[in-house]
Amino acid sequence: MIVILKPDISKKDESEILKEIKKLGYRPHVMHGIERTVIGAIGDERTHQSLETLVSWPQVERVVPVQKRFKLVSREGQKFDSVVRVRENRIGGKKFQVMAGPCSVESEKQLLTTAEAVKKAGATILRGGAFKPRTSPYEFQGLGEKGLKLLAKARQETGLSIITELLSEQHARMVAEYTDIIQIGARNSQNFQLLIAAAKTGKPILLKRGLSMKIEEWLLAGEYVLSNNNPHLLFCERGIRTFETYTRNTLDLSTIPIIKNESHCPIIIDPSQGAGRADLISSLCKGAAAMGADGLLIEVHPNPAEAWSDGAQQLTLEGFRKLMEELQPFIAAAGRE
Ligand code: PEP
Ligand code: MN
Repeated sequence: MIVILKPDISKKDESEILKEIKKLGYRPHVMHGIERTVIGAIGDERTHQSLETLVSWPQVERVVPVQKRFKLVSREGQKFDSVVRVRENRIGGKKFQVMAGPCSVESEKQLLTTAEAVKKAGATILRGGAFKPRTSPYEFQGLGEKGLKLLAKARQETGLSIITELLSEQHARMVAEYTDIIQIGARNSQNFQLLIAAAKTGKPILLKRGLSMKIEEWLLAGEYVLSNNNPHLLFCERGIRTFETYTRNTLDLSTIPIIKNESHCPIIIDPSQGAGRADLISSLCKGAAAMGADGLLIEVHPNPAEAWSDGAQQLTLEGFRKLMEELQPFIAAAGRE
């Protein structure tokens, strides 16, 4: 931490602050300038009490942290990329992974038709919500465990791995029994008890970015997973809320190089919640692949017009097939397969 003192403070005021810094477990290094004094407080900010409270002292102008607040997700702590194993698939390695399927699991026919089509087009993981976080309590809330059973059936019939959302700590065990990846949704990405419960299942966790979450907060939420002994973490950018109304959210593709720089964990892009419009999905996917994302999470439905949730943003089966074909040069351009 760097502690900047107000100009022209007395020797006594300075020594009081030095005493306090030592008391809190740091080694102070004093630099006297012409007008003011700056103190470098040496010590691990994550294992000692923070010095940020020193701003309440009258002689202190500012306290500036030097260390990052996250450790286990940090690139500083692990130089090489983490590769998350999901059954026979590896996310974060050479292969670009596409997760696709309906927003919500609605019926056996809807899910199986979609699963077969997305598999044929090259997806390796099937998405589908069984517990849905809906803004209104009157909207379709998901089929619950029945939906999980249908996902398990689709996995058995197609060999695809499964990703589905966990909404409540109460369901952590049940959801983990059926799924290969647990999705933590945007509305819950700072629900720390839920993150801990999800982490403790040991399953890979896909952590969406919250609607108004800063990247640092997202990294710290990821830290909850790793610090609960679960190294299998995927970050997923799904757009943040801005003033823009052309799109449902503003998909922040700058998170790809930022997460790659700050963390060793893979990053997945969800253009469906990001745009909220099926006509933008293809461009956003191409951009994400070319920018070095590790994979995509895309909503696909046999008949989007009749979908029980998020109809406007879901691709048709044919639309998805075409997208997968068009995506290839962009995946190759980023050095992936
Ligand atoms: C979803 O994937 O369907 C979903 C609800 O996502 P988010 O939490 O990003 O809104
Ligand atoms: Mn959705």
